[in-house]
Amino acid sequence: MNEISQPAESGRVARIIARADHNISRSQVATNALRVLYRLKDAGFQAFLVGGCVRDIMLGRRPKDFDVATNALPEEVRSLFRNSRLVGRRFRLAHVVFGREIIEVATFRAANAPSPADEPVTEDDAEAEAEEVETAGVTRFDVPESSAAEDRVQDTHGRLLRDNAYGSVEEDVWRRDFTANALYYNIADFSVWDYVGGTEDIASRRLRLIGEPEVRYREDPVRMLRAARFEAKLDFTLDPDTAAPIPQLRHLLAQVPPPRLFDETLKLFLTGHGQRSLQVLRERALLAVLLPSVDRYLVEQPGGLVEQLLVQGLRNTDSRVQEDKPVTPTFLFALLLYGPIARQIESLPPQRWHEIGAIVEACDRCLREASRQVTIPRRVALGVREMYALQPRLEQPRGRRAFRLLEQPRFRAAYDLLILRAQFGLASADMATWWTNLQQLRPEDREQALNAMPSAPQPPRTGAEGDASASPATRGRRRRRRRRNTAGPA
Ligand code: ATP
Ligand code: MG
Repeated sequence: MNEISQPAESGRVARIIARADHNISRSQVATNALRVLYRLKDAGFQAFLVGGCVRDIMLGRRPKDFDVATNALPEEVRSLFRNSRLVGRRFRLAHVVFGREIIEVATFRAANAPSPADEPVTEDDAEAEAEEVETAGVTRFDVPESSAAEDRVQDTHGRLLRDNAYGSVEEDVWRRDFTANALYYNIADFSVWDYVGGTEDIASRRLRLIGEPEVRYREDPVRMLRAARFEAKLDFTLDPDTAAPIPQLRHLLAQVPPPRLFDETLKLFLTGHGQRSLQVLRERALLAVLLPSVDRYLVEQPGGLVEQLLVQGLRNTDSRVQEDKPVTPTFLFALLLYGPIARQIESLPPQRWHEIGAIVEACDRCLREASRQVTIPRRVALGVREMYALQPRLEQPRGRRAFRLLEQPRFRAAYDLLILRAQFGLASADMATWWTNLQQLRPEDREQALNAMPSAPQPPRTGAEGDASASPATRGRRRRRRRRNTAGPA
């Protein structure tokens, strides 16, 4: 390694690692990201790749996306790229848009700027953002409401004259969370700038917060979830000092705005390492603050059928991500809330377990409870409800009417849930197979399936009841019994 400056510990001086001494090559960088970097550089600005993409390339992983950091002000970036828009209320950044690919360009942050990514971009926000772009010119330069507004000095046209929220790369680095996320790849000479010992931490697969961990978690409690996420995603070990304050500080997550926790939840569970995320969140007792009802269920029914169903569902989701197949928040929340929903339903007399009204009410109650911590957008909540409401109709199809269910927008998700339930004896395996076969028939051949329809099962089961006392043996026994009964609602 080519150390041309002082060691990172001395503070604001980077160790500059020359191109010959690191493994990042431009061939691993998306063409559009390179375009953005070069255009900034050619306009006389500093331009770096930063964050997860540098880390991932160093690890030999394919980056999810590319983030750029620069000393150009957002408005300057905006005017360099016709295909860009400014986003973010508390801290403005530019999105340079290439079809479906977005390169995020952030101006270096000063010490008093909001930390990177601390503004949620939920889908609702994205919609608002889209509207903002449509009305560009009118709302283009709204004055931020937060304290950052005081740092900004604008002329009468709203042009930014000075903005203390922006700084230099030397300042930007200290606002970042983990050392592994704080490496800068300089497009000017292809060197990597390391102020915090990130390269060594990546080499030894160590996740270490920059600065004093307790202070950094208090500043932004979401960093605890990010720690868990990177532990799961990268298979890194948390540095003991980084791990230590989590048990005492995890309650601070309850104060994080729920839309932001929705975003984090999707990143935890829908990006290819969901099963491992669940494990880490439980080990670090973070699930209890993120989704208390889910955690409570799993603690009370350890190793039960519902836990097995959840883990298998997350595994399936992870494989889908690996295969580049679509995954949805709706299916995710249906999985996560299976235990709480099943418990709600089973608190009713068994004859009501198949009542659509009772099912929907149970779903709503559980969704409402969960959304006290994590926003569950309406669209997702309705989807979860429909998936559960479809279960009894899939389990007890009524003749030809079954065919119409195939056209339901939620059919596929509901069917996937049925398959999963059947796999754990929580729904009739024969019925699940019948639906599988039905979908393979051409519409004109579907009548044949009517003869093969299994008889309606009695009585229903959700899997919530009795798990607490279940030893592996009784679980097995119960499962056999279920199979005989061929039952299972939600
Ligand atoms: P991923 O591969 O999952 O996208 P990432 O490291 O790129 O991981 P992002 O959430 O995309 O994570 O954030 C980009 C960068 O912004 C991070 O690498 C980190 O440097 C910085 N960052 C993001 N969130 C925070 C935070 N809460 N506090 C401090 N820095 C953050
Ligand atoms: Mg990223």
